Amino acid sequence: MECRASPRGDRRHPRAGTQRSPRTGAGSSRFLCSATLILLLATPGGAALDLKGSLSTTTPPLAAVPGAAARDATRAAASPPTLTRPETPAAAALPPASTAPAAAPLSRSSTSAPTPASTALGAAQAGDAAAASPLPPTPRLVVPAEAPSTDPWYRAGAARVAALTRQHAGPARRRARNVLLFVGDGMGVTTVTAARILAGQERGLAGEEFSLAFETLPQLAHAKTYNTDSQVPDSAGTMTALTTGVKTRAGMIGLDAGAARGDWRAVAEHLVPTLFEQAERAGLSTGVVTTTRVTHATPAACYAHIPHRDWELDATLPADARAAGFPDIARQLVESPAGDGLDVVLGGGRALFLPRGQTDPEHPEQAGARLDGRNLTLEFRARAPAETAVVWTASGLRQALDATPPPRRLLGLFAPSHMAYAVDRERENQDEPTLATMTRAALRVLAARARPWILMVEGGRIDHAHHDGNAYRALDETIEFSDAIASALEEIDLDDTLVIVTADHDHTFSMGGYPRRGNPILGWVVESDGKGGARPRAVDDAGAPYTTLAYANGPGAARPATDPATTNPQDPDYRQRALVPLEMESHSGSDVAIYAGGPGSELVRGTVEQNVIYHVIREALGDALQPSEPTRPVPPPD
Ligand SMILES: [Zn+2]
Repeated sequence: MECRASPRGDRRHPRAGTQRSPRTGAGSSRFLCSATLILLLATPGGAALDLKGSLSTTTPPLAAVPGAAARDATRAAASPPTLTRPETPAAAALPPASTAPAAAPLSRSSTSAPTPASTALGAAQAGDAAAASPLPPTPRLVVPAEAPSTDPWYRAGAARVAALTRQHAGPARRRARNVLLFVGDGMGVTTVTAARILAGQERGLAGEEFSLAFETLPQLAHAKTYNTDSQVPDSAGTMTALTTGVKTRAGMIGLDAGAARGDWRAVAEHLVPTLFEQAERAGLSTGVVTTTRVTHATPAACYAHIPHRDWELDATLPADARAAGFPDIARQLVESPAGDGLDVVLGGGRALFLPRGQTDPEHPEQAGARLDGRNLTLEFRARAPAETAVVWTASGLRQALDATPPPRRLLGLFAPSHMAYAVDRERENQDEPTLATMTRAALRVLAARARPWILMVEGGRIDHAHHDGNAYRALDETIEFSDAIASALEEIDLDDTLVIVTADHDHTFSMGGYPRRGNPILGWVVESDGKGGARPRAVDDAGAPYTTLAYANGPGAARPATDPATTNPQDPDYRQRALVPLEMESHSGSDVAIYAGGPGSELVRGTVEQNVIYHVIREALGDALQPSEPTRPVPPPD
């Protein structure tokens, strides 16, 4: 029996009403994709503070206002910015953030002066955006239009796609008008399998026979995900491979592998244009949708160029970079020099766009986090005020889309930090849209622009739940991601739109034991007796029951909950057992799948380096990105 997922609107959670277990509250942890980094947060007073064990009380900027309600403290603790110690010795020795000047020193009159160290910092123009800012213009990145055709990773990726084209693209092939790239952050193959079973079981099926929406796409390949300096990758380096065609180091965004982490002075020589920047320059429309902060590594790699993924706002820049006016990721989003910048941006991360001291529009006990006094949401609007909508809630999004005419640019920031997990959105009655709703909204705005477009949609919190050793939320977020893809497939036409669904990397998630067919995927292992019945619950060598799902490392190793009298492994907050005790479960270096359909998808086959996906998209678009084509033909492979 073959079942297909179909959009179900606001999906209900069969176990959403289950009592939260205080012992394992998955909502009370924070996450970091580069798990080896030391977690430090700048306190409101500027001191660096090791967060281990002190999460709920010190999570500025998102809980910087004292007296936050318990729920919001939990929410903020679930998703603080992942601030880390700068890794270069010089940067590590810098004074605390608050002792540095809050505003960049370059004034309007100094825009023609050379910046301290980087020719990548160009003079800002006094335009609408500057008019919306209380501060003088600050230096901006100047991203080259040309693809890095001499980069060895770029050349190898282009050569692989040239070979695939010779072998598999017939003379009558169509080009793609639009591109829809879905990225399930941390969605390895085991996650897909387990989520498929959970989705089927939520429909009353045994589960194994079910298919998620993207599993119906006709093409399939494997991507090798390692970073140039890391056997097991992080999301910054992997997404840079997808969006720029070059592999790079872990933690780096929009820069080639020659850049050193944290070395902001040297970015000029390493800037690589993204697909989205090339599309903007060529007159296409562009959009980014995510459930994380829109400045988090995966969405940031669509538009930003920065040597440290954690520099999401100016408060997290090293003091010397901030003093020189080096643009943080949020600023790079609204200051994009390519075309008119991203046209649709939907996700979380509001605090990173609002000045410190400005009350959050939805949560009065929270406030903005920027030190430079700028309200970047006004600057986004100022690029085209008449056609731009800026919204904070699901209801605000509905109103904006109902307007006549509909907006042609849209910024939706639905939470101060990451958006809620789907299960918590429903439990806590948050006025946040589903990923499917955001995806439909983005497609509607892009359609209203009547130009070809490229859209990235990220299921961003699959990864976060895995880091917390919490399979329920990881699988539930994967189903949300599948629902968004199902919605999109109803809206778009595979005759003119290339759809690619992939993951940036895997996790140490495993599915094992010998559970019988239809056994609850989140449950204890119960084996078949081989005669149509079940054996007694399986136990390990120590006599304890065990679940089908487990992790090779993570928080589930410290206090494994295996007493069936007191433990329900299907509770949304249950943490699966793990082998190696780590505060945060890590990524895995396993290959991830690439699912594809539409024009150009015939090139998605075999086992390829992850950056080949970029070249497949370029090839599918043909001449559409012509203004940014390399000036020289790509050299043949060595
Ligand atoms: Zn991660």
